[in-house]
Amino acid sequence: MSGRAVLYVLLCSVLALLVGRTIWFGSRIVDPEPCGTNEEPIPVGDTQYTRLAKAIQIKTISYTRSQSNQTKLALIELSNFLRREYQHVFSSPYIDVEVVANYSLLMRVAGQDASLQPYLLMSHLDVVPAVSPEWQVDPFAGVVDEEFIWGRGAIDVKNTLLAIMEVVNSLAKANQRPKRSFYIAFGHDEEVGGRQGAVRIAALLKERGVRFKFILDEGLPVMEDIFMPGRLATVGVAEKGILTLRLSVNMTGGHSSLPMAESAISVLSRAVARLSHTAHPHHFGSGIEVAMLEHLAPVVPLAKCFAISNLWLFGPIVAWTLAQKGETAATIRTTTAVTIMRAGFKANVIPGYAEAIVNHRVHPKDTFEDVIRRNHEIINDARVVISVDEEELLNTPPTPVSSWSSFGFSVISKSVRQVFNSIPVAPGMF
Ligand SMILES: [Zn+2]
Repeated sequence: MSGRAVLYVLLCSVLALLVGRTIWFGSRIVDPEPCGTNEEPIPVGDTQYTRLAKAIQIKTISYTRSQSNQTKLALIELSNFLRREYQHVFSSPYIDVEVVANYSLLMRVAGQDASLQPYLLMSHLDVVPAVSPEWQVDPFAGVVDEEFIWGRGAIDVKNTLLAIMEVVNSLAKANQRPKRSFYIAFGHDEEVGGRQGAVRIAALLKERGVRFKFILDEGLPVMEDIFMPGRLATVGVAEKGILTLRLSVNMTGGHSSLPMAESAISVLSRAVARLSHTAHPHHFGSGIEVAMLEHLAPVVPLAKCFAISNLWLFGPIVAWTLAQKGETAATIRTTTAVTIMRAGFKANVIPGYAEAIVNHRVHPKDTFEDVIRRNHEIINDARVVISVDEEELLNTPPTPVSSWSSFGFSVISKSVRQVFNSIPVAPGMF
């Protein structure tokens, strides 16, 4: 065979491979099984909207690790509200409710078949603070208009708190006992690290030897026009880690009438600017992102399907495209956000000390050490000291990645497709 013929055969083979993979990936969508006929849809209407609005009005705000008396009273009020609105849950003979660490709730719904491993649904009772001037409406008024339910907690995460209660209350009211047992855990201090609530609940379950088939916690919303045109549900199978760092600079201060070439403020500012403008490397091609795109192949336009089905060739182009937008870039790399800067105390005094707080969301492929080492490289200034900040947020390494060919993933994605009119579902990262 001549060289030309070899090239021709080679080209044809590559083309056949590209097309073959496109057809294979493009045809893999799985339709959910229909709901059983005995499964009545759970009602959603004015009663549910009003309940969510009322829950929003209860200011269960976590400011700091040790919650204030006001917050504690609000947590009790929310608990009482749940007991009042969802009486069937609290009176059902097959649901146990216990209070953990004074304010958190742990429930066990005993199923009919004790041989099936239970699962766990989680949510939290507290919310982060809200500064009124930044809001179009009072964040704690519980405003309901034609389109939205407004307020702090409406999506983080009194929505899932009440959704779980609505469902379990309906089941209990109809005296419908699920086949598989499940647990429900509502922590009361999630927004400040969950040390009192979730951590104590976990210890209690461990002590009792309870193991779960899967755990479903708050996660990603149904997205619109982000990875693809139209709606997409991603089920988080891993959670990025949280690492908060403190950058501090100690230099000689002085009087503002005799400024030096550099000050703690200018050195820190340069470090912060460098960090803000230099992204950490992306990890495209190493797992969830690829699986997510492959799940989307059947529903995206043909050109995209062609690229996604052949990431072995088009991977770098796809990675570049994802890196261009904040929402998609966050899925492929560790992100950096400078959230606090502190320096100075008087208009005519050059301060000797300046500090900044940097919050990283760490990709599962990175370790804390990787992130700190890279920050040192990016800042490249020994005067800037980097230390781990433990003051406000709990630093948590990225979670291990859960399987997306598991029972849990399949149950959740089926449910999503049944509720949201068969929209595409893909694994994602929270
Ligand atoms: Zn939350």
